[in-house]
Order: sequence, then structure tokens, then C-alpha cells
Amino acid sequence: MDITVIGGLGFEQTICNRLNGHYIRVIGSRFNIEKRSFPDFTNIGVDFIPQYLTIKNVNLIGKPRLIIEFSENLKSKFIINDRAVKNQKEAVYVLYSEGWKVFYQSAKSGCLGCFIAFHKPNPPITYPDFPKEQAINIICEFLTDNPNESIIADLENGKKDAVPAYPDCEYCKNNTGKFYYGDICDIVSLSCGENSVGITPSEDIVLNLPHYAQILSKFTDCVKETQFFLEFKVGGLECMLFRQGRFTVKPTKDEAEALFIYRNYIGS
Ligand SMILES: [Zn+2]
Repeated sequence: MDITVIGGLGFEQTICNRLNGHYIRVIGSRFNIEKRSFPDFTNIGVDFIPQYLTIKNVNLIGKPRLIIEFSENLKSKFIINDRAVKNQKEAVYVLYSEGWKVFYQSAKSGCLGCFIAFHKPNPPITYPDFPKEQAINIICEFLTDNPNESIIADLENGKKDAVPAYPDCEYCKNNTGKFYYGDICDIVSLSCGENSVGITPSEDIVLNLPHYAQILSKFTDCVKETQFFLEFKVGGLECMLFRQGRFTVKPTKDEAEALFIYRNYIGS
């Protein structure tokens, strides 16, 4: 089977080992901010693409039989959901929604949007530890069982529930494809002159900066807070978060590094 794994959580190598025998491409993994690189996939026997999935590089997904969305990013999951609905394909997602869960999306039943509405998520740095073994076991179970209906599995108690199609779901009923076609996305831009990367959400948002300042102060050096922006440091990089959601990181020219910080420390 041809499988695409959209990575980010950092246990992609374990998944690939468990899925041994299939052709696997992995897009992104957990970025190491100290080494300023992705983990080494050289001897894993997969095609590793050292980028994060955004609307700009959506063609990297290829034409797999199955997609396993294993990132910390909600927009990435909704890109895959739009694609799965459009092509009537199965997909598997690992997500955090009142606890860690695995969602199996059948081609014949409810989509990810039938289970959860898109929202600005809390920063993944605030989530509890990821239950790697349980998640990988359940993913493998789903791939073996190949259920006819969509199912949400709770990784804390192992409970599984069917997710029927929601009659008014804007994703599978109306099939707007707004994530896959980029109406809602994060626009990443490189400013070579300033040696910085900027990320701008395309949707209109106004952030509660004191809320982010409170969270970030537990995990980073929060150097400055004003009414209009927050300035903080992650691994020697200077980050700025503006009230309208724009985020900049310097000094770097690496879009993946900037996306890693944005997705994990701010949430998207
Ligand atoms: Zn739906």
C-alpha cells in the first residue's frame, strides 16, 4: 500500500517500523530546536520530506491509498479532511480534543468536521504527554479492520464510538474544500533581507495576548508584552506574535523551523 504520513508529533519512525512492508512517504516530523534540524530518517526505509504540510506544498502528499495525519496542527488535519472528502478516501488522524484521540475516517461515513469544528486550538505545548503506544496500536488496528464507519477512539480509556455523518456538516455535506483550496490557511513568507520568516493566518482573528503571555511565560522567556504584540525567545530565536495573529521569527531562513515554533507555541 502507498501511505503518506503527515508528521509532527515525533513518533513517525515507530509508526513506519510498525507499517513495515508498505511504501511510506513522511512529510515533516518533530523539529529539534537545539540541533535546528529534523530527526534522521536515513536508515528507516521511507521517503522523508523535511517540510511541514501547508497549502503551498500540498502536492507533496502524492497519490497515496491512505493518509495518516500525525501532526500537532489542526489546519493540516482539515486540509487532509477536505482531500479525503473530495476523493472519497479513508484517512486516520491523531488529535487532541479533551484528551488524545485517534479518528478513523471512512469513505462512507462522517468526516473529521462531523466530529469536531475547526477552531483556534490551544498551544500543543500545553497538552499532556502523547500516549505513543496506545495511539500506534489503535492506528494499526484500524488499518487491519478497515471499518465501514468513521470511529473516534479515546486513547485514555480505549473507548471507541461511531461518528455518523452530521446532516449539515459544512465539510462533507457542502464540500466547500476551504482548507484544501487555501481559503483558510497559514501564509508563510521568507524575508531574506531581514533573515526572518513570517506566518500570517488568512482568517480574521484577534488574539487574547495576555492569555498567550501567561501560557508562554511557563515555557519560554517572555521578554516583552505590549497591547499589540508579544516578544519571546525559543532556542535562541526571537519570536513576535501580533494581536491579529501574525507571527515572525528571526534570525532564520528555515520555514520549517518557524512553523514548528508557531504550531507548537501558539497553535494553529
Ligand atoms: Zn462531515
